[in-house]
Amino acid sequence: MQADLPILDDYSLASLNTFRIPARARHYLRVDGAAQLEAVRRDPALGALPRLVLGGGSNMLFTRDFDGIVLHMTGQGREVLGEQDGRILVRAQAGENWHAFVAWTLAQGLGGLENLSLIPGTVGAAPIQNVGAYGTETRDVFHCLTAYDMASGDVRTLDAAACRFAYRDSLFKHPEGRELVVLDVTFALPAAWVPNLRYAELARAVEEAGLTAPTPQDIGRTVEAIRRRKLPDPGEIGNAGSFFKNPVVSREHCARLLAEFPQLVHHAQADGSEKLAAGWLIDQCGWKGRALGAAGVYPKQALVLVNLGGARGEDVVRLARAIQEDVKARYGVALEPEPVFI
Ligand SMILES: Cc1cc2nc3c(=O)[nH]c(=O)nc-3n(C[C@H](O)[C@H](O)[C@H](O)COP(=O)(O)OP(=O)(O)OC[C@H]3O[C@@H](n4cnc5c(N)ncnc54)[C@H](O)[C@@H]3O)c2cc1C
Repeated sequence: MQADLPILDDYSLASLNTFRIPARARHYLRVDGAAQLEAVRRDPALGALPRLVLGGGSNMLFTRDFDGIVLHMTGQGREVLGEQDGRILVRAQAGENWHAFVAWTLAQGLGGLENLSLIPGTVGAAPIQNVGAYGTETRDVFHCLTAYDMASGDVRTLDAAACRFAYRDSLFKHPEGRELVVLDVTFALPAAWVPNLRYAELARAVEEAGLTAPTPQDIGRTVEAIRRRKLPDPGEIGNAGSFFKNPVVSREHCARLLAEFPQLVHHAQADGSEKLAAGWLIDQCGWKGRALGAAGVYPKQALVLVNLGGARGEDVVRLARAIQEDVKARYGVALEPEPVFI
């Protein structure tokens, strides 16, 4: 095995996933650029191993030890590249902490990322599931990214179209993109900023705070306050944020459900489909605040599953399955997990 790579064996991942699930990696390597990835690819033994690219571990559920090499993206660095077509281009390395990066842009007086404040994880992972919150998605502020292709060894630049962003989805979650490791991401922030208050709860909070001419930093602070109120801090209670995606159903299916459940929370989509609120469905099935063993449903937000202490991956999976079965039986809707199961 390659002697000049600082690979650690039988490495604990418990503190590297926000669910705080105990799991171990057969090999572990910190990666701060393409050079280490190239070395792994070229080494016959390392190159043949199963690979797991790890950022902040905030969208992962370990159900077993990882019998391969974990590539932990730790590269740091961020810079303002300049203005182009009325947008300010800002680039950050994959291992940068997402929230610290957002806060840094806001401190420079650059708006655009404020609705995505306080999301855990790294910059490199933001495009993977097209991270979104409070009416903004990564694709709205995305310019391009650089990725290392573990299959060919090429460093590629991908624009938004190439990344094929969709709701909690992108190229990188599909077979054609699985060999790509994101090295850095460039965002295009508006030179002439206007607040995005499309999300009703955020608009209400801004109004209640008396912010008649809010700055990007005001919006960022408001988003942070809402999130702190609603979501568990992974530093205190293990979780991976929303455990299920909001299901999208046809207009006809939604109409049938509304006839039976007039309170159903639904949002019309541009393509005519309807997005349902997974948290509402779970809550209505009586799961909010309940537990199965050491895995529970967060009492303030039914969409978040939590580690009540000492949970293993299978405890969380058992709870998730029970919830999926109940929601399917009552509403005929299949809930799809958001975190990546390992
Ligand atoms: C409390 C809490 C709140 C959350 N709120 C939100 C929210 O509002 N909106 C939202 O969208 N998500 C949310 N999440 C989920 C999570 O924060 C995001 O998905 C985040 O982008 C994951 O980043 P990460 O670095 O932790 O990725 P990880 O969990 O380490 O990895 C996630 C996936 O991305 C891949 N990956 C990571 N880095 C790279 C890279 N550099 N190149 C290629 N692949 C990579 C991994 O292999 C894995 O498949 C929340 C999570 C928590 C715990």
